[in-house]
Amino acid sequence: MRSITTLELQYAHRFYGFQGEAQYLHGHTGILTIEVDDTITPQVNMVFPCNEIKKIAWSVLQNFDHALVMREDDPLLPAIVEVYGKQGIKNGHRLNTMKGEAFKTEWATAYPDCRLVVTKETMTVEGMIKIVHDLLKDKLPIVKLTFSSGANCASQEYEPHNHIERCPLCGIALNADGVCPKCGYRHGD
Ligand SMILES: [Zn+2]
Ligand SMILES: [Zn+2]
Repeated sequence: MRSITTLELQYAHRFYGFQGEAQYLHGHTGILTIEVDDTITPQVNMVFPCNEIKKIAWSVLQNFDHALVMREDDPLLPAIVEVYGKQGIKNGHRLNTMKGEAFKTEWATAYPDCRLVVTKETMTVEGMIKIVHDLLKDKLPIVKLTFSSGANCASQEYEPHNHIERCPLCGIALNADGVCPKCGYRHGD
């Protein structure tokens, strides 16, 4: 069975070098749908509580919300960083608090303090799916990701490669020590 959750990301980007209007800086509300697949936890009668999927995903994907997503070779990037620096917001602001955990992967690096994500490739919907899968594949048993943004939409299916042990009482993932972060259930209790 699958549990499915959806979250929204509002971001600005452009397709650097693209021969169309998308080469100009513009914004979107992107909609990401995450599908996880596993057995149903009997007492909870869920695969994964959807708010838990959302929480795990949001902890890193918040980096894309109210953020600028720029390809690493885009000449706008140093210009923007320079302006942020002059304005004193490059290294954060006291009211810039809704930040995700910083990350660096093969495909993208997040700078939460200045709400910037630098990508290796153009952030198309296809490119975003690649970035998201890489960030979440070890945290959730993802079998499908769908990302839509404006008129564009892409999806990719995956073979489930990881079984995540869940609390029999809450249905959420146990931590590395085999303990439920919500109710304290311990593996083997
Ligand atoms: Zn766009
Ligand atoms: Zn629990």
